[in-house]
Amino acid sequence: MKAIIQTSTALTPNVKRFLIETEVPINALPGQFVTLSFPELLDENNRSIARSYSLLNWAANDSQLPVIELCISLNSLGKVTPWLWGLDKPVEIESTEALGTFTLRDYQDSVYDEVSRILFICTGTGIAPFIPMIEHILNNHPQKEVFLYSGNRNFTDELFTDILKLWEVEFPLFTYVPVFSREVSAENYGYVHAFYKEALHMNCHVYVCGWSEMCKEARQHLKAMGLTRKQYFFEQYN
Ligand SMILES: Cc1cc2nc3c(=O)[nH]c(=O)nc-3n(C[C@H](O)[C@H](O)[C@H](O)COP(=O)(O)OP(=O)(O)OC[C@H]3O[C@@H](n4cnc5c(N)ncnc54)[C@H](O)[C@@H]3O)c2cc1C
Repeated sequence: MKAIIQTSTALTPNVKRFLIETEVPINALPGQFVTLSFPELLDENNRSIARSYSLLNWAANDSQLPVIELCISLNSLGKVTPWLWGLDKPVEIESTEALGTFTLRDYQDSVYDEVSRILFICTGTGIAPFIPMIEHILNNHPQKEVFLYSGNRNFTDELFTDILKLWEVEFPLFTYVPVFSREVSAENYGYVHAFYKEALHMNCHVYVCGWSEMCKEARQHLKAMGLTRKQYFFEQYN
């Protein structure tokens, strides 16, 4: 369907939030993504280049989204993101419906009663699908412990700090752990994998989102910790 990139605002030096109006409002579950194609950007076969992006917002209670929100990081050597950064007026593109199965298990179902703790592990814009997912759990399953481990290089790369800190105050069972790989003075200095291990236990579910290296490493750690394939779920960005 047709869609129009309306506005973008900087969230960090390298990440922008984009608002996109779709021709028809879409349904979306927390964790889903859209695939956008860009008629102004053609590949070697003269076809529009397409890229996928996780939705920052979602449609509660069977409602529909009039505008979709995305959070995108600039890859200065990439084909699409430098073009997105250069836009100075609304532009028409194409969008799919919300897609993907990286969504929350149905925690209403008694089969998941024993899952007492849910961990979210990400780096960079891998946090995008977790914003609606965590919001959903906090509001609908307040008895579950929720941990978010979010890795970035520098303090200036941290995303959604205000809302995450607010949720920590509002929801006592929510813990936010920002980790920084290039800030020696950080409370949590290093790679994200060094920090979530202590929170893992046999009754937890783990959602992981980010680029392939991070996902690969997380998979190895989770397996080594004895978690089964039914306990962890991945969204890999490439
Ligand atoms: C399901 C899904 C959801 C996604 N959601 C998001 C999202 O919410 N936000 C978002 O920013 N991206 C997201 N992506 C990645 C996005 O689709 C593009 O790959 C990204 O925007 C780069 O596009 P590009 O054309 O500028 O770079 P390309 O020309 O595709 O770049 C080539 C290569 O550079 C590497 N690369 C690019 N950016 C990075 C980076 N930041 N860190 C490490 N390696 C990188 C990758 O190996 C990539 O294959 C998602 C991908 C998938 C599959």
